[in-house]
Amino acid sequence: MLLHLDDDRSRKRSTGGSLPETLLSSALDASASGVLIAECGDSGIRIVFANRTLAERTGHSREELLGRDFAVFCGPRTIRSTIERLDDAARCGRSHREMLLAYSRDGTPFWADFTLSPAHGSEQAGGHMVATLDPVDHKQRAERTGDALPFHDGLTGLLNRPALEREIDYFLSRGLPPGSLPVLLLLDIDHLGAINHIMGHAAGDRVLWEFSSQLDSIFQGDAIIARIGGDEFGVFLPALEEASQVFGYIDRILKLFDTPYTPRPGHRTFLTASIGVSALDRPADRASLLLQQAALAQSHAKDSVRNSYFVFEEELDRRSRDRAALRLDLCNALERAEMELHFQPQVNARTRSICGLEALLRWNHPELGLLGPDVFIPVAEETGLIIELGAFALREACRYNHSLIERRLLDVPVAVNISQTQLVRESFFNEVMEALEETGLAADRLELEVTESMVMDTMSRARAQLGSLKEQGVRIAIDDFGTGYSNLGYLKMEPVRTLKIDKTFIHEVTRQSSDAGIVRAIIAMAHNLDMSVVAEGVETESQASFLQRNRCDVLQGFYFNKPLTCRDLENHLHDVQRGQAGESAATEGKRTLLLVDDERNILRALARTLRSTEYRILQATSGDEALDLLAREEVHVIISDQRMPEMTGIELLRRVKDIYPDIVRIILSGYTELATVTNAINRGSIYRFLTKPWQEKELREHVEEAFRHFDANTAGREQGAGRDNAGQ
Ligand code: C2E
Ligand code: CA
Ligand code: CA
Repeated sequence: MLLHLDDDRSRKRSTGGSLPETLLSSALDASASGVLIAECGDSGIRIVFANRTLAERTGHSREELLGRDFAVFCGPRTIRSTIERLDDAARCGRSHREMLLAYSRDGTPFWADFTLSPAHGSEQAGGHMVATLDPVDHKQRAERTGDALPFHDGLTGLLNRPALEREIDYFLSRGLPPGSLPVLLLLDIDHLGAINHIMGHAAGDRVLWEFSSQLDSIFQGDAIIARIGGDEFGVFLPALEEASQVFGYIDRILKLFDTPYTPRPGHRTFLTASIGVSALDRPADRASLLLQQAALAQSHAKDSVRNSYFVFEEELDRRSRDRAALRLDLCNALERAEMELHFQPQVNARTRSICGLEALLRWNHPELGLLGPDVFIPVAEETGLIIELGAFALREACRYNHSLIERRLLDVPVAVNISQTQLVRESFFNEVMEALEETGLAADRLELEVTESMVMDTMSRARAQLGSLKEQGVRIAIDDFGTGYSNLGYLKMEPVRTLKIDKTFIHEVTRQSSDAGIVRAIIAMAHNLDMSVVAEGVETESQASFLQRNRCDVLQGFYFNKPLTCRDLENHLHDVQRGQAGESAATEGKRTLLLVDDERNILRALARTLRSTEYRILQATSGDEALDLLAREEVHVIISDQRMPEMTGIELLRRVKDIYPDIVRIILSGYTELATVTNAINRGSIYRFLTKPWQEKELREHVEEAFRHFDANTAGREQGAGRDNAGQ
């Protein structure tokens, strides 16, 4: 409300038609607004008149107000630049309007709409000003701000970003009172975009609006609060006495998010916030720096758990500076040919021969050395360079795999990791097809690894592209399976052929029954859906044999190979070929029999009896030695003595049954401990029980029959499982 009071006293006095002063002053008193008249002179802006409303609102008596500077309404948290702007306007005789944090006489802060206009009606320096002061609640504050108040946010009525920076700089330029600790909080409401998207912008606005009034009530004028971006708020606490106070505030802010937000009846949603904290310890700092540091801390909070805060530290700063440098270097890495692919073999779980390769990016950084993708993929995602990197990995993997096949070194599919950014591009299908055409690689020698969330999140285009690629023969695998969605419905719709169980489940699979259960369930489910299963992160033989026993098709992990350079891979392939050549000369068409007895002469005699061109014979003198051998060699039939010092034959065969259920197990014993033997037979641990001394012919017949039994068993099972991935 602008009060245009004709204040030309000389005119009033001389004109008979003018209003009497008493009428004027009682009219002013009756006004619902607090009104004051101030005189601007060299000594400042002095109040010469205050109406009753103003006195009531502020708790001052009218007499008290007379002669005081109008800044009498300002208090410790009143925004300084606001006062300066008002001051300025008054001195120049300009109309002006501000949202002011005013104080009543007893120190209670309240927000007020403060207007100022020249009493004589025209703008000129000096003279009298009329001011009105109307307390506003938060809602009114939001309504009243707008174009008229360029330093305020139109929606919430809070300060905007430039205003916040000005305020901070103003405080800093004055020098900090000793012992005080200025702190800046940057708050970001997570997922507001989703609310806007699903429930409409009005709902999103309401969230912002409610949140800003909640902030007001938490800080009660102790802070300068600003809305500095869509869903971002800045809170500047100019004079905390103790660092611990800030955590009290943060606690209260985060607690706001404990209750669900109900935009309209029947809709409930939980929001979270990420808070970055930056405290100022060097007086030379500026607002921009404080904001930068708080933003960095905030993005760190966002990366960790939701509804959390993070306090800026130098270390964080250093890391982010490293990241910035990395970003620059990454731009040039492809041009400078610093990127290369390493290949990690995948092996058939049963035969342990290589049945696939996964291509993994490495960056040969000129100063930092060889960097893994965990360091640079996130940077590449941020900068969009992932498109070029991904295209490089795809093409290079196709090219190299084609050359392995051409050179008859290896003929298996190569798996390439695809990022979300690549997959959602319209041109993705064509890029893959071009890579295949240009390198000459057959489509079924390429597998694309995508993650669950990528097939879930991305709209039908990504799915359609994967579907078309599958039609062309390209294989699709779900990477890191088990870590993403619990809704598995998508699996039956997707052109997925392979599930890769995430390494976190494999790590403890032999120790944690929950992990073992999950892994078994994934394998069973995948097989029911006609998919093959890859376990990654296999680091020990016991993990490998557990997975093999549970019919996992393919194994990948350090136990077999680390990711290898092309050169190391080729050396390894040559070794394998040589080994296989040597082995296959000796084992071609041959089955393997393992004999276990603690007495060496018996072992020797047995071996003599069973010597055959049909199978090869391995020997072990204890249960442990036998288990070691079994981990290394493929065995089809085992004959074990029963009485051995550390581990009895039946105990050994019970373990063999668990780990290698296909091996045909025979006990050869000089003693007829009927109870034990019957028990073992009944539990299926052993296939035959034979007695010493043996009849040579009979023993040979038993062994031959055991091999036939093995063949019949495994053939039956292979028919049951209709997959070819593991069979490469
Ligand atoms: P990923 O797809 O899950 O790849 C498997 C990671 O497990 C690889 O890490 C591999 O070195 C590691 N690994 C293999 N065996 C074992 C093991 O026995 N134990 C343990 N602890 N780890 C094992 P790497 O090479 O550091 O790659 C990390 C991630 O970077 C990959 O995870 C993949 O998501 C991403 N990545 C790698 N290359 C590319 C690429 O060309 N494009 C895209 N978009 N992402 C890539
Ligand atoms: Ca992968
Ligand atoms: Ca993985």
